Amino acid sequence: MSVIVDPGSGVAGDNGATPVALSTSRDPSTWAPNEHINKRSSIPFILLHFLPLLAFVTGVTWTAVWLAVGLYFLRMLAITGGYHRYFSHRSYRLKRVPQFLLAFIGTTAAQKGPLWWAAHHRAHHKYADTERDIHSPIRGFWWSHVGWILCDKYNKTDSDAIKDFTKYPELVWLDKHDWVGTWTAGVLCFLIGGWSGLVIGFFLSTIVLWHATFTVNSLAHVFGRRAYDTPDTSRNSLLVALITSGEGWHNNHHRYPWAARQGFRWYQIDVTYYVLRLFGLLGVVRDIRPVPATVRDEARPQR
Ligand SMILES: [Zn+2]
Ligand SMILES: [Zn+2]
Repeated sequence: MSVIVDPGSGVAGDNGATPVALSTSRDPSTWAPNEHINKRSSIPFILLHFLPLLAFVTGVTWTAVWLAVGLYFLRMLAITGGYHRYFSHRSYRLKRVPQFLLAFIGTTAAQKGPLWWAAHHRAHHKYADTERDIHSPIRGFWWSHVGWILCDKYNKTDSDAIKDFTKYPELVWLDKHDWVGTWTAGVLCFLIGGWSGLVIGFFLSTIVLWHATFTVNSLAHVFGRRAYDTPDTSRNSLLVALITSGEGWHNNHHRYPWAARQGFRWYQIDVTYYVLRLFGLLGVVRDIRPVPATVRDEARPQR
């Protein structure tokens, strides 16, 4: 666990892949082979979005509301601080037990397993906004937001891209059986909050969490300021940073993906980083990788 793995240069265009101009509609010429949304397997995913309407039957209790809010922030942190900044970028170090716990909490977010998530994210950095980027908005906004997830081609974990973690059998098991975490969260919500706890505390919270996470792939490559002249389309967005506990400083992140912080300046709110620092003080999180001052100061002056 002492080696920090380079998840790709973080800079597109140097991997033999060609940058493509941003468009808002999906241009078939940019499609890779077999890249089609599986309509049949997408139906359950779409239907899930209507489940919170059952609240008209179950009612909405305060317990359910607090469950929804608490689970949103807890699971967002597990995705941003865990799946993203730890498993994808190894921007700090953890011992084996907290590593597994973080991965397990991540699976409660129903965003598949940590190895699947991180391997795909490493590919995103390696080929950002080129024709080999799995979820670039150059292929259309909705494709980058959710379409690619519904495509069979990207169902499997690319083990070669995440070899540094496949050596842990408990993580490989969790990645294969990610439903265990998701179902545990759902059952706990039902036991704590009854049907309202399940419908609002679990399902509504999970659906909002999905789309908030997806905005980093879609909105954060379309709207916002570009502080750094990266070859991709990444942008900095306060709005996305607020709903994702700090992942909206995406242009910063593409400039220097190895850092644990994405808000490079004190005024760039990055809740995930604050929590990592807190766990650093407790001795759980170690070797938090900083942003070199020279990189930070490359930013263009704000107008
Ligand atoms: Zn990106
Ligand atoms: Zn990243």
